Amino acid sequence: MHRPEADDRLVCPVCGGQRFVELYPATFTGQYRPHHVAITDHGYGLTGCLVRCRACAMVTVHPRPAGEQLVQLYAELQDPSYQEETAGRRDSFVRVLRELRRLSPPNLRLLDIGASTGIFVDSARQHGFDATGIEPSRWAVEEAAKTFRIPLIEGTLPHPSIPARHFGAAVLLDVIEHVDDPRGLVEQARETLVDGGLLVVTTPDFDSLARRLLGQRWWHCRLAHVQYFSRATLHRLLRDCGFVLERVMRIGRTFRLHYWFSRLEGRPLVAGMLEHLRASSLGRTLLDTRVRINFFDSVTFFARFSGR
Ligand SMILES: [Zn+2]
Repeated sequence: MHRPEADDRLVCPVCGGQRFVELYPATFTGQYRPHHVAITDHGYGLTGCLVRCRACAMVTVHPRPAGEQLVQLYAELQDPSYQEETAGRRDSFVRVLRELRRLSPPNLRLLDIGASTGIFVDSARQHGFDATGIEPSRWAVEEAAKTFRIPLIEGTLPHPSIPARHFGAAVLLDVIEHVDDPRGLVEQARETLVDGGLLVVTTPDFDSLARRLLGQRWWHCRLAHVQYFSRATLHRLLRDCGFVLERVMRIGRTFRLHYWFSRLEGRPLVAGMLEHLRASSLGRTLLDTRVRINFFDSVTFFARFSGR
């Protein structure tokens, strides 16, 4: 049995602490496969062992696949159902873009780190940004080229095709919770920014009411997520990396009703209701309706790089 308390190899990604307490036991002990890290995966509650840093309360998964192994999983990832909710995702992205414009980045060059299929980059271009993105999944890069004619860069930071000290804004939208080394990721993002550049980070909030009510059954407890930030731990990490927090938003998510229900399809009552609705044209129209729900369990930080 793994004992986090006695393990000296794990170092807190936020404060460097080495003492942890077990918070939730592992509900998954097999081998990670690419489908486990799909964005639309709904294996909620399936995680490795969650431990909390005694010093700063950062929650992380331990043990977990090594950093290179995680990147390899994303490189091989294919997630066609992600594309089905393009309109809803765009709706959330537009809220981020409006706020970014309001905060006046030093230039309009924008880098989307973990750009997936390019929906955000495409939205940003429509909002006047000179936007580009980097993404490890070959499938997602091909989708972006096919769907939006956007040439994303395949890979991870640092990358020879991404210039340093160049961008007025960089975004990490639902990315930081997926990586082995979030501090390294924020530092790499910072290197792409000019002084005064803005970094946007969206991530689930482990201190949210939803997580406290649902515990490990919370929908953000899933294999793809290996870092669980709160407002406090994310703020600390950004501050330590030279950023000044300018704004925090809780944006919520927009999906078709069908998507919201399908997240819960494993439950007999929901499965029955879905079957019933799909059987009639009125039901299908209803399921196609876009619905915005805010559980206030995700945070979006807008932080400015104070300069070199
Ligand atoms: Zn810590």
